[in-house]
Amino acid sequence: MPPLADYVCPPCRTVTEELVNRPIPQYVPCEKCGQHAYKKPAVVARTDHSWGDSHGYYDRGLKAYVNNRQERDRLMEAKGLVGEEDVGKHFAVDALEKSDAYNAKLDKNADDMFDAFSKCRSIKDQERAWEKLVPAEEVFNGTYKSPID
Ligand SMILES: [Zn+2]
Repeated sequence: MPPLADYVCPPCRTVTEELVNRPIPQYVPCEKCGQHAYKKPAVVARTDHSWGDSHGYYDRGLKAYVNNRQERDRLMEAKGLVGEEDVGKHFAVDALEKSDAYNAKLDKNADDMFDAFSKCRSIKDQERAWEKLVPAEEVFNGTYKSPID
């Protein structure tokens, strides 16, 4: 039976569950927006465990005691997981963090605007608030920088 794998779409955060065949694809089209959804990185691969010693360890990601790398790989495959090292270091995580940072910026910008405009008592106030947020002169001379860029 082919393993089930979760893929996360960085822009829209939709998780697409796919039955996949080996080799497990690094990405599939997002079921919602059609962009690349990336294999959810396995938590296990983020533990920097040294395989040089002979002792096994309890892997919280796998919820199992692992004695060596082969055993870990076998367990991961059985659970349909892919190590982060196999999809490029921190690739999916970076993509998610980047989109989180951008979303945070958008939220902050929306909050700032809401704050500014909610304090306005008149059209004149609103014009002043707008001028403060988006100075007309900067827009005209090309020095305006959008806070969300
Ligand atoms: Zn999507």
